[in-house]
Parts: sequence; structure tokens; C-alpha cells
Amino acid sequence: MKIRTLAVAALLSAAALTACGAEPAATTQATQQAAPQQTQQADPQGQEPAGKQGAFVAVVAEAKEAANQEMRKAFAEDKALEEVAQGFNELLKLPEGEYILAAEECGQANAFWSPDEKKITICYELLTDAATKAQENFTTDKEKEDYITGVLMDTLFHELGHAVISIYDLPTVGKEDDAVDQPR
Ligand SMILES: [Zn+2]
Repeated sequence: MKIRTLAVAALLSAAALTACGAEPAATTQATQQAAPQQTQQADPQGQEPAGKQGAFVAVVAEAKEAANQEMRKAFAEDKALEEVAQGFNELLKLPEGEYILAAEECGQANAFWSPDEKKITICYELLTDAATKAQENFTTDKEKEDYITGVLMDTLFHELGHAVISIYDLPTVGKEDDAVDQPR
């Protein structure tokens, strides 16, 4: 099982380019390892002094179940989570502090944002479920990998939606789960 990190990195660096006014440097940064406090780019508006900015740090946690261990290995080898954390750090001006982007064994196929811990958790089970569905519904490796990557990206951006709403204390209407998917 492989996580298509190239697609992840390309998507995120494209988003970063849009967000910061097509700065060419952003494309090369997306391939670097996640480094806390790396985001010290000059702000074109000069609104904020180059001070301490928060950053997401990737954590690939241990797993007990065999299927989850496979998923853990894929994450550790592909550095997918590090790339995504780096992408988030380039997209957002986070308030000072440490933010965690974790892949963990949860005992359920789910994902969470915890405001207290400033932590996004992606459960290995969510992706092992996706891998099973991919196996049942698709024939080529590319289709299977694309499907799993799609589930991962959907989930990551959904949870980032919750994170952004709570970090910046943004107003929402209706259920927050709808607000993060359909902002208007
Ligand atoms: Zn949600």
C-alpha cells in the first residue's frame, strides 16, 4: 500500500502558491522536511513582525494491529504527513504554539480535531477501511492509490476546517460539520 505523496505535495504547493501571491519559492519548499519555525517569509503587507509563528508537527504513532502497522509503515516511508504539515504551515499564519498532525491507532475509523491539544488525528483504521474499499471496487493500483489519497485528503481538509474555525475563532452557521465542507 502506497500513499501518493506526490499528488499531496503538488496539491498543497499549488494551494500555497495561490495563497501567497505566486511566490516561486513555495514549490521547492513543499519538498522539504517539516521544520517547526521554518515559516519566516517576509509578509508583503508587513502586518506582522517576523515573530514566533505556530507550526504543525507530524507524528506517526505506533500501532498494535497488523493492518494499522502496515499503514504506519506507509506513512513513515512516504513522509506523507510531514509534507502535509509543511503544506499547512505554508498556507496558514498560525498563532504561536505547537500544533500536531498525528496518524494513530484509534480503535475506530475516524478523524478528529482536538482544540485543547491543538491536534488533528487521522486514525489508521480510516485508511485501512479505505484500502479495503479500494481493493473491492477498483482494479488498477493507480485507481486504488488515488481513492485512498482522496479519502486522506478529504479528511485532512475537513479536519483542517474544524481547526481553522477554532484557532481563529471564526463564526459559522448551522452544524460545524456542514460549515467546514460548505462554507457558504
Ligand atoms: Zn467534522
